[in-house]
Amino acid sequence: MKKDWRIETQAIQSGYVPKDGEPRILPIVQSTTFKFQSAEHVAKLFDLEVGGHFYTRLSNPTAEGFETKIAAMEGGIAAMATSSGQAATTIAVMNICRNGQHIVAASTLYGGTYSLFANTFPKMGIEVTFVDPEASAAEIEAAFRPETRALFGETIGNPGLNVLDFEKFTTIAKKMQVPLIIDNTFPTPYLCRPFEHGADIVIHSATKYIDGHATSVGGVIVDGGTFDWGNGKYPELTEPDSSYHGLKYLETFGSLAYIVKARVQYMRDLGACVAPLNAFLFNLGLETLPLRMQRHSENALALAKYLETHDAVSWVRYPKLESHKSFGQAEKYLPKGGSGVLTFGIKGGAEAGKKFMESCQLIALVVHVGDARSCVLHPATTTHRQLSEEEQIASGVTPDLIRLSVGIEHIDDLIADVEQALKASQQ
Ligand code: PLP
Repeated sequence: MKKDWRIETQAIQSGYVPKDGEPRILPIVQSTTFKFQSAEHVAKLFDLEVGGHFYTRLSNPTAEGFETKIAAMEGGIAAMATSSGQAATTIAVMNICRNGQHIVAASTLYGGTYSLFANTFPKMGIEVTFVDPEASAAEIEAAFRPETRALFGETIGNPGLNVLDFEKFTTIAKKMQVPLIIDNTFPTPYLCRPFEHGADIVIHSATKYIDGHATSVGGVIVDGGTFDWGNGKYPELTEPDSSYHGLKYLETFGSLAYIVKARVQYMRDLGACVAPLNAFLFNLGLETLPLRMQRHSENALALAKYLETHDAVSWVRYPKLESHKSFGQAEKYLPKGGSGVLTFGIKGGAEAGKKFMESCQLIALVVHVGDARSCVLHPATTTHRQLSEEEQIASGVTPDLIRLSVGIEHIDDLIADVEQALKASQQ
């Protein structure tokens, strides 16, 4: 694989490369296990002395095709697919943070991630301090403790749509000697490649734009391969692992230490693996990702501009609107487009919002974003309903907020549908 291919070429050509006479398309290896002749070889596979697939919970050729392609597209060194975006976030953090330790996270997160950090991690002894991503570097640094092991944020916050100030966040992470873990679900590597801006680990909900057709739930962790795990804060990567006869990850695997450990420890023990069929669909989705992200971004910007002019709309939020508070950061970090999600405030609050959603004919009310089909949602009563009102506000969710995931249909049909639904919402 050529490392310097453009991302459009990586999307098509990276990953699975057939040898002479093999299938042209990544095969779906729907097999839990793999056959061997030599018991000694199997023992070596278990001891990580040789590489290879032996059980699909740990690795699978179809998953590997997807993993290699997304790693190439993100500019990372390796990836591990998971059963969901939530599993990717969970393993990405647990791999370097244990009971008694702590992470700092931007407060503007997807509701499920917020809940994982605010409720479930503390039950396992991992504490999380949420910070306003717009706060000064000094304020964010004040949230760090000696036991802090990671800084976490989303490139585009869901659903606040604030664009992360990578320069500020990477400077803080480097100063504090912890990795910056970025959820890059909304922009995808086509619109933003966080490793180029100093991030260390990237995660995705592959369920969204990577699949792109709303067929499969899945996730992926991509390792940038540049973080110094030997800085004294991560003994689990430098000290012997008794579950592998004293293996030391950093010494044995070098820059791949983090992603190998995630697979052989946490995927082995937690089992949140990707299904081969889903990996096939994610790989297929990646092939058209650049084209789709262009259209999603064009349509969303056009719809956002239309909404800004409408009487029934009190505000519109989209990273590429000049009125957006993150516009400067969006210009810097998302030069090719702002992705497909926009939010707006409807006059008449939650009641008008309900009428709007129920009046949409083409745009469907579904709990999803990042699909080729346009969809609409009221986060306060759905994705973010488990959060208190205070937590909802901290994650950017107000009662009048409508979230639109703008698909790749023709823009004229989308505007016509929104127009008639807005009219109905005000009656
Ligand atoms: N991260 C973001 C930004 C999301 O929007 C989502 C889901 O909506 C997730 C993570 C969780 O992913 P999944 O639903 O695949 O578990």
